[in-house]
Amino acid sequence: MLRRDLLATMAGLGTATVLGTVPAPLAAEEAKIPTIAGPDPATKTPSFKAPPGSVDTHTHIFGPASTYPFSPTRPYTPPDASLEMFRALHAKIGVERAVIVNATVHGTDNRVVTDAIAQSNGNYKGVANIKAAMSDADLAALGKAGICACRFAFLRRLGGVGDMKVFRTLVDRVAAIGWHVDIYLEAGTIQEFVPILKALPVTYVIDHMGTISAAKGIDDAEFKALLDLQAGDDRCWVKITGPERASAGAPFHDAVPFARKLIDNAPDRVIWGTDWPHPNVKIMPNDGDLVDLIPLYAPDAAVQRKLLVSNPERLFKFEPRS
Ligand SMILES: [Zn+2]
Repeated sequence: MLRRDLLATMAGLGTATVLGTVPAPLAAEEAKIPTIAGPDPATKTPSFKAPPGSVDTHTHIFGPASTYPFSPTRPYTPPDASLEMFRALHAKIGVERAVIVNATVHGTDNRVVTDAIAQSNGNYKGVANIKAAMSDADLAALGKAGICACRFAFLRRLGGVGDMKVFRTLVDRVAAIGWHVDIYLEAGTIQEFVPILKALPVTYVIDHMGTISAAKGIDDAEFKALLDLQAGDDRCWVKITGPERASAGAPFHDAVPFARKLIDNAPDRVIWGTDWPHPNVKIMPNDGDLVDLIPLYAPDAAVQRKLLVSNPERLFKFEPRS
């Protein structure tokens, strides 16, 4: 795809952070019914014991909608996945720290994230959804509340309109207050995004291993483009998340070589997360099984510690545990 075609296509793409107009509100009846599945409630206790201070860097909290109403223009309706469920998940998998990424369903109302951070004794940080109408004081207040980044999801299924000028303006504004940016790409668009990402004045994190498909193989041009970008630009970080999105099926071992290669390629710029409660997945994983993939991704204990503890501490400015 030529770059001008990409940008034209993106005019029809949605973003988590609002880059333009948003779709019409849902009808009241339609609005109450979950349109996606909730997580597997029977989280297995993993065999792998995560090192102390490990951080799950990609998770969401949904509602409860009675306290934190979903956006009327959301692209899907999830079942509630509350802070209480979130805490139970992390107790079960033995991970005490987390980064809550505000989901598209909460629009640019970030209270569901900042309220959880406020009750976490420093164990949670957040990634917000923002919009151009927010003032510098609004952004500063989010930063004070534990937000370290904002997210841009260039995905068709999340609806809305993308405007690259607004994108760049927002990136410049958050760069000025020390945030990084989180980038969720549509599968098959990494190559087109490389020049856009390389030109960013700030650290950027690519979600879900670049939204690759394991079926395309380790020599796929998209995956090679991601590896080249990651090796050649020290502002590029990659999230080792979403094996269930890349894989043909459980136990997701076909995604392991991709994770392993990304970790080996830049062991100081990779972070791990569950993506609980797994919105919009074809195959619902069990989070205990996802934790047990970690030693397959990174057999070496020192590398595991980078992936799980020291890298996220640095990126999200957690209190160092080392
Ligand atoms: Zn997610």
